[in-house]
Amino acid sequence: MNGLMQQRQLLISDLIEHAASNHSDQEIVSHLGEGQVHRYTWSAACRRSKQVANLIQALGVTAGQRVATLAWNTHRHLELYYGVCGTGAVLTTVNPRLFAEQIIYILNHSGSTHVLFDVSLARLVAQVAPHCPHIQGFIALCEADQMPDIVVPGLACYESLMAGSSDVYTWPQFDENSASSMCYTSGTTGKPKGVLYSHRSTVLHAMSSCMADSFAISARDSILLIVPMFHVNGWGIPHSSAMAGARVILPGAQLSGEHVYSMLRDEQCTVSCGVPTVWMSLLEYAEGVDAEQRRRDIVVTRFLSGGSAAPRRIIEKFEAYFGVWLCQAWGMTETSPVVTVNTPLPRHHDLTLEERFDLQMLAGRALPGTEIEIFDDAGNRLPHDGQTTGQLKVRGHWIARAYYQHEDDAWDADDWFATGDMASLNADGYLKITDRAKDVIKSGGEWISSLDLESAALSHPAIEEAAVIGLRHSHWQERPLLIAVKRKEMDVTADEVREHMRHYVARWWLPDDVVFADSLPHTATGKLYKVPLRKQFESFRFSTDVENA
Ligand code: ADP
Repeated sequence: MNGLMQQRQLLISDLIEHAASNHSDQEIVSHLGEGQVHRYTWSAACRRSKQVANLIQALGVTAGQRVATLAWNTHRHLELYYGVCGTGAVLTTVNPRLFAEQIIYILNHSGSTHVLFDVSLARLVAQVAPHCPHIQGFIALCEADQMPDIVVPGLACYESLMAGSSDVYTWPQFDENSASSMCYTSGTTGKPKGVLYSHRSTVLHAMSSCMADSFAISARDSILLIVPMFHVNGWGIPHSSAMAGARVILPGAQLSGEHVYSMLRDEQCTVSCGVPTVWMSLLEYAEGVDAEQRRRDIVVTRFLSGGSAAPRRIIEKFEAYFGVWLCQAWGMTETSPVVTVNTPLPRHHDLTLEERFDLQMLAGRALPGTEIEIFDDAGNRLPHDGQTTGQLKVRGHWIARAYYQHEDDAWDADDWFATGDMASLNADGYLKITDRAKDVIKSGGEWISSLDLESAALSHPAIEEAAVIGLRHSHWQERPLLIAVKRKEMDVTADEVREHMRHYVARWWLPDDVVFADSLPHTATGKLYKVPLRKQFESFRFSTDVENA
């Protein structure tokens, strides 16, 4: 017997309609560079999204067709999130920090017909356009007098098109399983792979991130959205903030520690989200601000951190500088992205500060609607004892079930998606990511976590950045090498670093050697990029390797 409840489709357009009706005067603040700040409301954003819908239909874009963006976090990008997806077309947000060849690959592979781009990226657009023959139009997200001087097919001005576009539009109703947007994995191994989100997965993901034990987004929040909107739908914040009617601050392209600090202060933000690299820049700037002043300036109640493991040093400094819980979350492009969020349980009430930091080092617990498990190589489930490490798999309402036009064996018959991460789970279900499977160091049949070693090295005050890679060792099969960058004007020896790390990890985990470098390579999403490091140190021989003698 079926229930007698209405069955309505979960559509992204409903989110902005809700915000416009129920939070019409809630503000959206958009930083456009060179001190220019644009302010409007959710109801104005809804009207403009309808203009976008009319505009792209006038360009001939139909339901299911892909429309790409190369854009920073601005109100125009937000309008595209709703205006494009609301018509049934698919928004493909492309990361402008990728190599030109990867961008060309994504634009071609996604079959995008139009690209909307920020003017600061005009040179990149001119470079990729000749290699993307299917793109009919490039639309610059600017006013008529800011048009870039480039020659590309169908070059047009967004604001001029918007001026001629009506804001009368009725969002179409369609199947909630229809594709809404597409993001590509950053392709650090092989070609980028397209993840095709649906209206249903996007709305459910947004709903879950508003929950109290998730990001707890509410109408009382002012959110500084630092995570780029080209990276996994800006962690769903553009959707969850409309659902909750939160105030949104969009930082544009400028993410220096000083700019982030001033936006948090001037807009009195209550929440912000970003990757550890951004948090490090913020902390560096904040260090120079008087302690009392810092507490007065920053009223944030939660900083959300994901994309890579937050080192303990960052967690401790957020507490010391701002009195704020740095909340780690885990997810990936394939998982929309949020799967786990680290919030405490009643039993954590009386933790000492040190114990609390230990808890905060974990990636959190699975949100309802998702399941996580760890498995051994033979596919057996492993115990949740906080010690045993295995392959992390995930399934749920907002987890991909395939890549767009790309065969892959990451899924099994029970829908489990193999994330490529190694992890442990404790009895309360808190996840600890120990490594990317390909980064794990196998020493004499035991596994060493490169993330734990990096975190230990980073807790030394003279270490700015640290990467640990496993390299061949004639006796142990593999041993860890630490490659570290010293902080400006500070000195430290390899032995001092190793000695310091002994307080945090087992003795046999300590890197056999420490090499100092001026800088470390990063991916387009700001993560440590270990592939070139492995290549660079391919023929490195450890001082502990007898074959070395
Ligand atoms: P890519 O695979 O290109 O790096 P994603 O941006 O989707 O793309 O990154 C997902 C990966 O980032 C995860 O598989 C995991 O390795 C890492 N990651 C994300 N959040 C965390 C976290 N809180 N702690 C440790 N690693 C994390």
